[in-house]
Amino acid sequence: MINFGYTASESRHIDMDERLHPAIEKMLHREPSLKECIACGRCAAVCTAGYFTGMQFYRLNLMAHRGLINEMKQAARACMLCGKCQMTCPKGVNIRHGVLLMSQITDVLDV
Ligand code: SF4
Ligand code: SF4
Repeated sequence: MINFGYTASESRHIDMDERLHPAIEKMLHREPSLKECIACGRCAAVCTAGYFTGMQFYRLNLMAHRGLINEMKQAARACMLCGKCQMTCPKGVNIRHGVLLMSQITDVLDV
């Protein structure tokens, strides 16, 4: 076999028909606006924490849908809850509440 020096990446697609992790289901129940995110990236563009930590809220939301709970929780702790992102969101996502739930997912959602 020829070695091209790279390999195909593992698929990162999200199957919207697949059942979500129960903790994520509970989180979405408590903050349904998280389902409205279209991953436009506006929140990340204005994020106060993003400059220092690489915080990108919409990526946390994608992690949630991929079941990457620990990664999501860890990343959510970088949020300073300033609320700047919420002012730019075209879908009215309650980002501050969502990110707070993400950062406390095992404590608050009892999983
Ligand atoms: S600005 Fe709103 S819709 Fe856009 S990625 Fe952020 S949360 Fe999602
Ligand atoms: S509330 Fe959190 S995610 Fe939103 S802009 Fe502030 S630090 Fe970033």
